Amino acid sequence: MSSISTSVLSDLLQALPNLRPQLYFKASLTALSHAMEDQVLAATLEQPLVIASFQQERFYRQEAHRYKRLAQRSNQIYVLSAPETDFANSSEYYEKIAFLPDDALSQEWHLVVIAQNYATCLVCQESRGSLAKTSQLHRDLNPTLDMDTARRFEGIWTAERGVSLKAAELLLGRILIYRPELAGKIKQACQRFNIGQDKSISTDQQMTEYACDIDTDPFVQRLVTYLQASQYKLHKAYRSISAQARKERLVNSISTAIRQSLNPQEILTVAAQELGQNLEACRCLIYRAQATDSEAIIEHEFLSFDVVSILGQPWSLKKNPLFQEVVQKAEGIYVVDTQTDRRITNSRVLAKLCESLAIRSWVIEPVLYQGRLLGIVELHYSSNQNLHDWQAGEFDLVKAIATSVGVALIQAEAYANLEDLNQQLEALDRTRSNLIAITGHELRTPLSTIQVCLESLASEPDMPLELQKVMLTTALADSERMQKLVQDFLTLSNLESGRVEWHPESLSLQECVDLALSRIRARSTTEKLPKITTHFAKNLPLVRADGDWLVEVLAKLIDNACKFTPPQGKITIGAMSHRNHMVEVTVADNGRGIEPKRLGVVFDRFYQEEGALRRSTGGTGLGLAICRQIVNGWDGEIWAESSGKNQGSQFHFTVPSVHYKS
Ligand code: ADP
Repeated sequence: MSSISTSVLSDLLQALPNLRPQLYFKASLTALSHAMEDQVLAATLEQPLVIASFQQERFYRQEAHRYKRLAQRSNQIYVLSAPETDFANSSEYYEKIAFLPDDALSQEWHLVVIAQNYATCLVCQESRGSLAKTSQLHRDLNPTLDMDTARRFEGIWTAERGVSLKAAELLLGRILIYRPELAGKIKQACQRFNIGQDKSISTDQQMTEYACDIDTDPFVQRLVTYLQASQYKLHKAYRSISAQARKERLVNSISTAIRQSLNPQEILTVAAQELGQNLEACRCLIYRAQATDSEAIIEHEFLSFDVVSILGQPWSLKKNPLFQEVVQKAEGIYVVDTQTDRRITNSRVLAKLCESLAIRSWVIEPVLYQGRLLGIVELHYSSNQNLHDWQAGEFDLVKAIATSVGVALIQAEAYANLEDLNQQLEALDRTRSNLIAITGHELRTPLSTIQVCLESLASEPDMPLELQKVMLTTALADSERMQKLVQDFLTLSNLESGRVEWHPESLSLQECVDLALSRIRARSTTEKLPKITTHFAKNLPLVRADGDWLVEVLAKLIDNACKFTPPQGKITIGAMSHRNHMVEVTVADNGRGIEPKRLGVVFDRFYQEEGALRRSTGGTGLGLAICRQIVNGWDGEIWAESSGKNQGSQFHFTVPSVHYKS
């Protein structure tokens, strides 16, 4: 048997050219067809003719139970469908007609009811492309929307008897092709309802003859019920769309904050504010936390009215079982009611916390980046309000925000690293500029003096002997200064890079001081030095250090004291036992002193109070930096004290003493 490619709808429209087809959504057709079926079920005495044609077997299956019930009302029931699984021609309960899958009927949906006192029909064809187009649209809007509801049909629904009779005639014709053995039964129906008798039926006279005189109330009731159901579905769809839109708006506002501001603090404040406000929390917290932290400081907080703030306060993590659970599962926790949740009621700490902060519902969402915990987003709902009514999608929203917060926290980390690096670079740059300055002053100046002296000696052979001597002494002194700078620089870089070998030995401090003093006195034969006295505690133990380096430290400190103290001033060198088997050595002067705020930086490389270029006294600005490296080498400490300008200074350092275990 070959399939039929003509559509029942077009056959009907051809037969009755005055009909104007309309567009129907699937939901409307379902409502109409159910109302039509219910009308049959509501009548008791009638034996109407019912012809239903389903596009697909699955649509028939949804209705099969209704047709079984309809079969109790009438023996003239015909159901057509394309066979897919078990739908086949049969006469059990009612007539089933399986049409070929490529019959034009597979694109159509028909239901015709013909009774003595009324007739209705629904003859529709699915709009081509309606499914493809609308389903895409719906997937974009909301993936959970029922795609079926978007299907559209074009056709006729009417209670006009003439039209219904024509539709019945056309469908019965189809049935006969598939099931010719039903010819007798179909003929009976046609005779009973005058089907196929009226060749030209669309006159007003014929219409009124068959005017509908039945109770339409169940029909209308049914339609209203369906309308309500569709409305409810729509309402749900709108709600989920608006939740989605709210989520997008919120995520957008936070992403905008991330884009617009480089300051992570600002971003996190915005995030806490927006999230708390949008989800109507009484408190929204964002703080940094690592899995092993014992507590965190609340850094960002949103508060609604009348809620206690915990901003800036420590927030226990180690003792919070909920935090531990979040860390362990690497996912958020949602405590809907803290008054009944076992995790809270079983923990005294948490129960107390919920009470003191009035937390009724509690959300703890981890901020993770590549599996690493960076922080936490928390939402608290107050116990002074009704239990929070969680809306669909709100938890997703919290998760989405936590992801954005993660980006901001990573940005904050990178930012802090950058700042750190910047500071290191600045320090490096300072050292470099100092080096350039010192090279300029300390190396270039003496170098040019030496050059001038030597040049004049070479070009002026007649120069008086006296002057020649001055020239030579100056050149010599300056080359010594240069040598000292180069020497200090090399010493410091050797000490800093750990290339120095230490040879600790037991030493008498007095001897080391004497050596340092004689070195200084030998160096400054011409200038007058301040008076230097030593004052050592009795029974001072020997010290254990590398002798050369110890003398170096003493010499540098005494040298500085001499440099910054007028000749009439005085210098005292003292030593006494210090805690932890150390001896504390002090070099004190009553010279120009050091401003208290500079006491720390004097040990920095190239630090000189006047700056490298305005120095009156000789020196490289490396002396104290060298001392610090040496003292650190034997695990000692070095520090400076001074009451300020012209108040003198005291330099202290510690050196291990020799002690004998008893
Ligand atoms: P310099 O070679 O310039 O003396 P140092 O590193 O030894 O370099 O000292 C650094 C700076 O610390 C000095 O330039 C000076 O400003 C300050 N300073 C060091 N010792 C004293 C002191 N005894 N009295 C006052 N200021 C001092």
